[in-house]
Amino acid sequence: MEKVVKKAKKPAKAAKPAKASKAQKYVYFFGGGKADGKAEMKNLLGGKGANLAEMVNLGITVPPGFTITTEVCTLYYKNNKRYPKELNAQVDAAMAKVEKIMGKKFGDPNNPLLVSVRSGARSSMPGMMETVLNIGLTTKTIPALIKKTNNERFVYDAYRRLLMMYSDVVMEKAAGVEPKEGEAIRQKLEHAMDAMKIQKGYKSDTDLTVDDLKILCDEFKAIIKHTLGKEFPDEPQEQLWGGIGAVFQSWMGRRAVSYRRIEKIPDEWGTAVTVQSMVFGNTGENSGTGVAFTRNPATGEDVFYGEWLPNAQGEDVVAGIRTPYPVNRASKTADTQHLPSLEESMPQLYKQLFTIQKRLEKHYRDMQDIEFTIEDGRLWILQTRVGKRNPQAAIRMAVEMVKQKLISKEEAILRIKPDQLDILLHPSVAPVAEEKAILLARGLPAGPGGATGKVVFTADDAEAWAKKGEKVILVRNETSPEDIHGMHAAEAILTAKGGMTSHAALVARGWGKCCIVGCSELVIDVHRKEVHVNGKTLKEGDWITLNGTAGRVYEGQLDLLPADPDKNPWYKELMKWADMVRTLKVRTNADTPGDATVARNFGAEGIGLCRTEHMFFGPDRIKAMREMILSDTVDERKRALAKLLPYQKEDFIGIFRAMAGFPVTIRLLDPPLHEFVPHTDKELEELAQEMGVPFDKLSAKNKSLHEFNPMLGHRGCRLGITYPEIYEMQAQAIMEAACELAKEKIKVMPEIMIPLVGHVNELQKMREIVVSTANKIQQEYKVKVPYTVGTMIELPRACVTADEIAQIADFYSFGTNDLTQTVYGLSRDDAGRFLPVYIENGILEEDPFISIDQNGVGALMQMAVEKGRKVKKDLKMGICGEHGGEPKSVEFCHKIGLNYVSCSPYRVPIARFAAAQAALKKQI
Ligand code: PEP
Ligand code: MG
Repeated sequence: MEKVVKKAKKPAKAAKPAKASKAQKYVYFFGGGKADGKAEMKNLLGGKGANLAEMVNLGITVPPGFTITTEVCTLYYKNNKRYPKELNAQVDAAMAKVEKIMGKKFGDPNNPLLVSVRSGARSSMPGMMETVLNIGLTTKTIPALIKKTNNERFVYDAYRRLLMMYSDVVMEKAAGVEPKEGEAIRQKLEHAMDAMKIQKGYKSDTDLTVDDLKILCDEFKAIIKHTLGKEFPDEPQEQLWGGIGAVFQSWMGRRAVSYRRIEKIPDEWGTAVTVQSMVFGNTGENSGTGVAFTRNPATGEDVFYGEWLPNAQGEDVVAGIRTPYPVNRASKTADTQHLPSLEESMPQLYKQLFTIQKRLEKHYRDMQDIEFTIEDGRLWILQTRVGKRNPQAAIRMAVEMVKQKLISKEEAILRIKPDQLDILLHPSVAPVAEEKAILLARGLPAGPGGATGKVVFTADDAEAWAKKGEKVILVRNETSPEDIHGMHAAEAILTAKGGMTSHAALVARGWGKCCIVGCSELVIDVHRKEVHVNGKTLKEGDWITLNGTAGRVYEGQLDLLPADPDKNPWYKELMKWADMVRTLKVRTNADTPGDATVARNFGAEGIGLCRTEHMFFGPDRIKAMREMILSDTVDERKRALAKLLPYQKEDFIGIFRAMAGFPVTIRLLDPPLHEFVPHTDKELEELAQEMGVPFDKLSAKNKSLHEFNPMLGHRGCRLGITYPEIYEMQAQAIMEAACELAKEKIKVMPEIMIPLVGHVNELQKMREIVVSTANKIQQEYKVKVPYTVGTMIELPRACVTADEIAQIADFYSFGTNDLTQTVYGLSRDDAGRFLPVYIENGILEEDPFISIDQNGVGALMQMAVEKGRKVKKDLKMGICGEHGGEPKSVEFCHKIGLNYVSCSPYRVPIARFAAAQAALKKQI
């Protein structure tokens, strides 16, 4: 056997670690009141390993074990999947210590120690990597364990679990075997077990007798051999190293990689492997296992909350195979009222657990997710980690922890990811629609909010349909972590089985996605792509609606209501704290009074970009616009512009009013004119008639406007240079609107912005037009309105000559959409064809149109800031590209000293919050 392990896992030519030294420590022991590690060593030991060590340091009883560091994972991949040569001896030494504490020996036919092998990255990736339990059970150790426990049934149950997990994790997944849907080894074995249960008329796994289990184990081994072409390993060392290897392999497994992409966890972090002695929750009615949270992870309420199962192993609770019981009265829901809680069944142990959880939360100063096992009346804590929570819960907990003096306001702010606020800004099912809707089923409310979509049954379908622009709801029997990509693509997730701590519930909660689990009335037929529920059949593509807050599933597509975060007192409080610490102002990009009002309600402090071209698309306006574009003479053009003027003025009045004295940056016409011209002959004919011009002439003019590369063509201030009357009309409309309101004593602060400036002379020329028009209008209205004239900085040349431009500009606004496009030489309209490949292959970490490319685009921005402020110390600067609402970009803008960011109305709270975090991070 030794030979097998050595040959397979520890080749004679062991890899040399990058910085190998004799004393390099790869294995950290914990147990018996002593630990090599501590909580701060998460990067090296993973969250699980570090916290186990910490618990031992705190005097909490955890089963002893050891952790192989994340460094080994990194070396393993760097060195062609070979371990550092010191690893073997260090594992043996640590195992010897565990054996000593437990008074058992790994692989000993007389008194065997069994271990679990678990993954643990530095940030938790629930269910994304592998775990193997009961390692060390072999035909040689089974009899001794039976003798020792006097419980043959328990031992064979443990063995069948090992067969299932090991064949799935080590022999199939880690070996790179890719079975067809429904033919994975795990499913085959489950099928065999279900078949036996049906044949015997059993309801639950616990009904299986020892003889049944013995037969089942033999059957499992035969299926494994037949399916995977290999015998199940019967040597403890081979099982151990197989398990360790499988955990490292699972770091690069499909679902772990997808999860990391979504969560932006770098591949280099690696996972640690924790080998821990087994304790058993399935030795009888005096045993059990569970998962509990120090606060309710769904609502954030400060109550101890969890699930447990008597006579069960951990996987039974989390995998959704049996519906778990509530841990205490506070965790009971309408559906679980009747189930026995741990508080009622084992009051003494519950009390112990309650005390430990309080202690752990206080120690870690955050909500903990705790796994525990009761073996024959003794409580063991298997792990504690910072618990996943949905965004609403995260906000409530953070605020309440400040009030309880557990954390500071600053910590509370830094604990929430700005994107988590998004869920509060998202819809819920309209109560009116819900009252009349047909209720299909009820389940557990795992992820709040409302969602509506078409039913799909596989993760791949969810992803493919979503790519086509369909809204889908992923409906699955069980909440398998393999579904991660589909879960992400779906609007919501619905499962027939599983509890509030099932993997999918955890993942959905982390994302703030609407999710209902344990909806036991669903009977899903994946092969026929149908779900039967209360006498109805839904097929793939049928619409359903979920109310994830209440756990209700409805037929059809119900109306959703926009979110109303102001009803949430914790959110309001948190945002108040955030606004107190941030220095960056937050504005919005809005072109209509309606959008401006939404943004104001979300806390926008002005408009950073009003794209005036959006005002020209209304049915009445577009005609005048086309007339203007296709005019031959200045006079004709002026006539058409005169038709547009009242519309523009009316829009500006609405926006100024909505912004109630906050600054409003209005950008003069920017896009290439061809975007407005008629696209069909019919439209062209109509226009020719209206203008009294022959069709052919108009058609020729239309064609002459064609550009090879319009994005770099006749647009931006180039329009104002060639057709000054356009900008004149716009300046007039802005100033007339402002003067009219000023006469009504309404405060207005127009900031007129010239787009796509590359040379200072362009701005100079445009400024002259604006200023002379503004003077004229103010004289006419006999009123003075404070206004400024500034420019977008969206071309590399503008950045490089920002000191020259600053002489003329009253403000700068970075147009990072165009700036990214021109710095990279990437067309933002065409990049979609190849950028995803760049991201997939790791050539670019992120899409530069989403998050500012700080080294390239960012460096130019910084240069522009410095050059601009050298000329005008207080030159006001902001950003209005799409990046203005993206947290990392907001932080960058804060760092380089911009005065404000501007983003779409629904991103405003996120930007406010990101700005607060940026200010705090800079202080740290
Ligand atoms: C920009 O280029 O960043 C910008 C805000 O302008 P637009 O997207 O309208 O070109
Ligand atoms: Mg632009």
